Amino acid sequence: MKGIQRVFERRSETHMAGESLKKPQAETFDTWKAIAAQRAYAKLHGLPVFAPETGRCFKCKRDIYQKISVERARRELITGCPYCCYSYVE
Ligand SMILES: [Zn+2]
Repeated sequence: MKGIQRVFERRSETHMAGESLKKPQAETFDTWKAIAAQRAYAKLHGLPVFAPETGRCFKCKRDIYQKISVERARRELITGCPYCCYSYVE
């Protein structure tokens, strides 16, 4: 019985984690941490890193990780500049 209860608890935790993604949450902005997070994400998924290695946009030279949080860099592939919308993919 206790085992079953634990499964249910786990499920609700997963559900809550999904819910929290919709709500605004604390985000960390740290260029080097974000670069490392993006590298780790790309490596994990076998993808190339499109974002500039230095975190500075090739086109407008702004630090893209002032707009892209460490959390975001950790969970999605950065393919373009959040400032000038320049695409790094092409
Ligand atoms: Zn740019």
